[in-house]
Amino acid sequence: MAIPGLIDPVPVPRPEAEAGARVELVGKSKEQIREALAEAGMDARQAKLRAKQIWHQIYNRGATSFEVMSDIAKPHRAWLAERFSVGRPEVVVEQVSTDGTRKWLLKTHDGHDFEMVFIPDADRGTLCVSSQVGCTLNCRFCHTGTMRLVRNLDPSEIVGQVMLARDSLGEWPSQPEGRLLSNIVMMGMGEPLYNFDNVRDALKIVMDGDGLALSKRRITLSTSGVVPMMARAGEEIGVNLAVSLHAVTKEIRDEIVPLNRKYGIEELLEACAAYPGANNARRITFEYVMLKDKNDSDEDARELVRLIRKYKLPAKVNLIPFNPWPGAPYDTSTNERVERFSDIIFEAGISAPIRRPRGRDIMAACGQLKSAAEKKTRAELDRIAAEKQAQLEQAAA
Ligand code: SAH
Ligand code: SF4
Repeated sequence: MAIPGLIDPVPVPRPEAEAGARVELVGKSKEQIREALAEAGMDARQAKLRAKQIWHQIYNRGATSFEVMSDIAKPHRAWLAERFSVGRPEVVVEQVSTDGTRKWLLKTHDGHDFEMVFIPDADRGTLCVSSQVGCTLNCRFCHTGTMRLVRNLDPSEIVGQVMLARDSLGEWPSQPEGRLLSNIVMMGMGEPLYNFDNVRDALKIVMDGDGLALSKRRITLSTSGVVPMMARAGEEIGVNLAVSLHAVTKEIRDEIVPLNRKYGIEELLEACAAYPGANNARRITFEYVMLKDKNDSDEDARELVRLIRKYKLPAKVNLIPFNPWPGAPYDTSTNERVERFSDIIFEAGISAPIRRPRGRDIMAACGQLKSAAEKKTRAELDRIAAEKQAQLEQAAA
């Protein structure tokens, strides 16, 4: 059976801001803030000083208006407020799961829905951040992959998610100790390496010690295997890498992660072996979604071990029980199967914990994210996948 879906991005570019609209400063670097001020007519010395103050107010204090920037003289604040904004993505709905997981449905200024999830644990709190509205890759087990609308989120919308979470948790000013929000995973909607520049620029601000001040060791970027961007991700971003492997044979991976038809398993693992900064202290995580009778046999587990050894990868495996969604073509592997799979890998000396699903009751678990406005039947999903394919062919022509 031909698997519908495309293997390359066809993102819709972000629309230009309307003429006369105020310029958003959240998501800009200090240098970009300075440039924006200068462009608006502020003289060079002033712009440099103000950029420093505004940067601190935005990213350290969490200011959401110029009004509260008390270190800036009142008339200046009014001047700034006329031209600039320090906003957040709009919150459409916030839901809390029985296990404490929170999910926010957010809206961009041009009306696209996307989602963000916060997962509290005893020793940490992880924010799952989206990089795109929808995703151009149609992994067969992923709800986000069935969305029609796709555009890249820009740095203000990516950093904006982290800032919104801090607002909601009351974690301003940025403090190094005792944060609830301690970790970030780029595992929400979208393929972060298909939105490389924006993700990099946003994470730079998140990692900046004078910015949101989260260590790169506490940030993980997950990719479905965009091989040509992986080296740059290591060099220019330098966060932990997670790779959505999910299968060990060409046949099965081609089916469930169609990007595999373009960048195969061997190529992907070579890129992992070359990932800058990976070592035994900072391992690469292989994500493996457990699909009943599809990729969950003992043989699959042993092949996974063989591949990790062959490429000498400093790796750990994260086994993710498949999270179902309406119309999904797969079932969740039995608990016994997942445990056996995990044991085989553990016995080979590779860590293979089973990820406990979180927030399933509010459709916040891995691969369940999809805008509320986008609920569709299987027939519609197939039609959308066919449309995406046609778009791709058109783009390639
Ligand atoms: N696009 C990136 C990051 C977002 S997905 C990527 O694919 O890596 C985050 C993780 O959730 C990925 O490993 C993804 O494969 C997994 N996932 C997707 N759908 C899932 C589902 N229904 N159940 C369990 N995990 C799923
Ligand atoms: Fe996109 Fe990741 Fe979902 Fe695949 S698993 S469709 S790459 S979000």
